Amino acid sequence: MLVPVEPLQDLVKETFIAAGCRPGEGRRIAKYLIRANLAGHDSHGVIRVPRYLAWKEQGMVVANRKLAIVNESDSFAVVDGQHGFGQSIGPQAVDLGITKAKKAKVAIITLRHSGHLGRIGEWSERAAAAGLVSIHFVNVAGSQLVAPFGGVDRRLSTAPFSVGVPLADRAPVILDFATSVVAEGKVLVAAFGGKPLPERSLIEPDGSMSQNPLTLYGDHRPFDPRKGPGAIRAMGEHKGSGLALMCELLGGALTGSGCAGPGARRIANGMLSIYMEPEAFAADGAFAAEVKSYIDFFASSRPASPNGEVLLPGDPERRNKEQRLKEGVPLSDDALRAILDAARGVGVAAPAIAAVPAPAA
Ligand code: NAD
Repeated sequence: MLVPVEPLQDLVKETFIAAGCRPGEGRRIAKYLIRANLAGHDSHGVIRVPRYLAWKEQGMVVANRKLAIVNESDSFAVVDGQHGFGQSIGPQAVDLGITKAKKAKVAIITLRHSGHLGRIGEWSERAAAAGLVSIHFVNVAGSQLVAPFGGVDRRLSTAPFSVGVPLADRAPVILDFATSVVAEGKVLVAAFGGKPLPERSLIEPDGSMSQNPLTLYGDHRPFDPRKGPGAIRAMGEHKGSGLALMCELLGGALTGSGCAGPGARRIANGMLSIYMEPEAFAADGAFAAEVKSYIDFFASSRPASPNGEVLLPGDPERRNKEQRLKEGVPLSDDALRAILDAARGVGVAAPAIAAVPAPAA
């Protein structure tokens, strides 16, 4: 079903406030989750509500935390998210990078121990809106979900990577993906009866390929990605597996957040971000002019199929946003039921629940 944006966002906000977040944090969590849905990444949208609440309950993530600065100079900072919600910690870390790069022309921020940072393209977009190029290597400490190229055992997190390039007269180019064939959230969406997984996205312990979400979750309920026998595959064969490794080494080890394993570790995002002021590297608008001309050339390639088209990274998300703002957010009945149950569980008042359409019985 399609759920209108406003009441859904309000329900999520009220849920986190009822669970103990300050109003500002409740608003931010709801805003960024809904923005992921609007971008078309339902895996990182409101479907996460029950899991975020469970993490809070278990003490894995803590409400109302602020970013702590561990070490800094004019052009770098080591910061600690203190296991606060990523929707509060993320913007603080990115804004620190923006402020430093505006002064020093380049800045590197290593963020450790952040709660789930959601859709990483959000942070590239924030830097691009300030006129900065940015690169983000991210990992998830304590989360072993992905088998490396040539292997069947879980050794990597879904370790996302994102680059943002601002453009003068056009929306920025935003590359943003998990280094696994699919993000774990997309397996969760499929498990809830949403969009099916691509073929060969998962691998069984015997090396056979799978697209069945239960390869990752097993028979355990609620769905817990630690409980299944198999793994998600790293994207792009040896190249994607290598990029995932670099996300672990830079996002996990260099930040001090910790890599995906071994042993049990507290789940947290680590993110190494590089921010650059384009004018410092290519003066007098040379970067903007070359990027504009190249991007037109790139997109002018003849499509490979009659109804196909060549898009720039970031274009699909913008199109989805336009459409979903009008039509609403697609949610399976099961996913919506789980969100409503979570809201009731923390005592959200009836009007906020009644404002959202009821799932089919
Ligand atoms: P995906 O496979 O949908 O790829 C998205 C990227 O590909 C975007 O840059 C998009 O603009 C581009 N793209 C898509 N279709 C295109 C086309 N036809 N032409 C050109 N470009 C196209 O993304 P994913 O791997 O499923 O990741 C989903 C989200 O999950 C991302 O936002 C990622 O940051 C997030 N994620 C977060 C974490 C975390 O720990 N916080 C972990 C993993 C993934």
